[in-house]
Amino acid sequence: MRRPNGFISTVDPATERPVTYDTVRCVHCGRHDAVLPGSKRIRKFCANCGGTTCTSPACVVGCVPAERRLENLEHGRPELVARPVQVRGAGR
Ligand SMILES: [Zn+2]
Ligand SMILES: [Zn+2]
Repeated sequence: MRRPNGFISTVDPATERPVTYDTVRCVHCGRHDAVLPGSKRIRKFCANCGGTTCTSPACVVGCVPAERRLENLEHGRPELVARPVQVRGAGR
């Protein structure tokens, strides 16, 4: 990991020794995700957002930036809609 966004310290349950993992902030959901050494989990670099996503399938597929998600939630739209469709005369 060349540019981690932070790190977490925890205790490895196998060895009971403290370990530190780099973390990256997902550009799509804003979650900090630990980079586990040797992990083969799918992670994506989103060229649109200029950053790395977490391993959540919703974040790996497509591009719905964290800001857009919040906006969607605020407006009562499905969270993962990248470009909300304007609905006229919906009554709200
Ligand atoms: Zn994410
Ligand atoms: Zn993106």
